[in-house]
Amino acid sequence: MSTNADATSPQEHVAHAERWGAHNYHPLPVVLSHGEGAWVTGLDGRRYLDFVAGYSALNFGHRHPEIVAAAKAQLDRLTLTGRSFHNDQFGLFCRELTELTGTEMVLPANTGAEAVESAVKVARKWAYQVKGVPDGTAEIVVAGANFHGRTTTMVSLSTDAAARKEFGPFTPGFRVVPYGDVDALRAAVGEHTAAVLLEPVQGEAGVVVPPKGYFAEVRQLCDDTATLFVADEVQCGLARTGATLALDHEGVRADLYALGKSLGGGLLPVSAVIGRADVLGVLKPGEHGSTFGGNPLAAAVGRAVVRLLATGEFQERSRELGAHLHARLGELDSVAEVNGRGLWAGVEIAEGRPMGRPVSEALLERGLLVKENRSHLRIAPPLVITREEIDRGVDAIAEVLG
Ligand SMILES: *Cc1c(COP(=O)(O)O)cnc(C)c1O
Repeated sequence: MSTNADATSPQEHVAHAERWGAHNYHPLPVVLSHGEGAWVTGLDGRRYLDFVAGYSALNFGHRHPEIVAAAKAQLDRLTLTGRSFHNDQFGLFCRELTELTGTEMVLPANTGAEAVESAVKVARKWAYQVKGVPDGTAEIVVAGANFHGRTTTMVSLSTDAAARKEFGPFTPGFRVVPYGDVDALRAAVGEHTAAVLLEPVQGEAGVVVPPKGYFAEVRQLCDDTATLFVADEVQCGLARTGATLALDHEGVRADLYALGKSLGGGLLPVSAVIGRADVLGVLKPGEHGSTFGGNPLAAAVGRAVVRLLATGEFQERSRELGAHLHARLGELDSVAEVNGRGLWAGVEIAEGRPMGRPVSEALLERGLLVKENRSHLRIAPPLVITREEIDRGVDAIAEVLG
């Protein structure tokens, strides 16, 4: 096989990826070449309904026309400057994002892991400068079954064996407590605690919503102990749960939020830490940065995302269609439990029914993109999906699970 020839058949594309790409994923056997809204098309000529939405990186669907238009306009003007200069998109992006979210300041980055990493650095610096924690001793309390990304520090605080095995040594300074258990959290927070870092809904863990009132108690505990509350809303934020921020459901504010995934509108990696100005204000020039963070193309795309979210339409779609999705899934005998919030569901398959990869493969055969995780299916369609399309997907799931 010639190595520089363009592959033509789906099989050739798969062979190229297998031969020349690292094997850190095991993709389903489909080669996608086009996407629009809630649908993608494969090189096999078939259309597939997307129930994954890039793990909420595609909340607005594939190639949302307003986001694509904003990107195209910006591509014709200015794409990259570095932060040594101002550009005419970044400041507006920061202002509009803080107005949308009721926050005060934006620290731009690119990926979700980078945003959470940046929040960890800010929290540590804040602990030394403001809380008076002795330098080098700050701790951050996190929850079991968390997912915060794949960098060495983010896997240092993970409890997933596969994510950690043979990747050490790890970054010290983290303590893990069970998710949703406020007493365990209280026991772990002390004079050296810079921050409590939590996902308002744990996506990778199976779309887990903690007990009602948990976050109000977390907030109170943080206030009582002069500890920052950092919310990782990389996946649950930006309308996925039916609110702009998932914590909005609880009537609770975090001090810092990490955003990512859909902040890039399904086009680019765009992430940010947003929150209190006095906390993000601990960073001084030269202490932290990112070559691509806040670049004009990313900022223009982020502004288009903020404009869409400001209409409230996507939050409302998530709430209404999510209620329908949860009701439909709840009716299936093959489903033991449905967790989640809004248009986002973690489906626990009942014992004795098909499980694992064969389920995703059978759904692919029926034109539905879903990703399984052992006895779970995680469902997060683009928020532009219709009620009829949801029914179509749930019907396919019902068929495959029997
Ligand atoms: C996806 C995700 C991340 C990591 O984002 P990347 O862009 O893959 O680095 C961090 N936190 C949560 C909650 C996520 O879902």
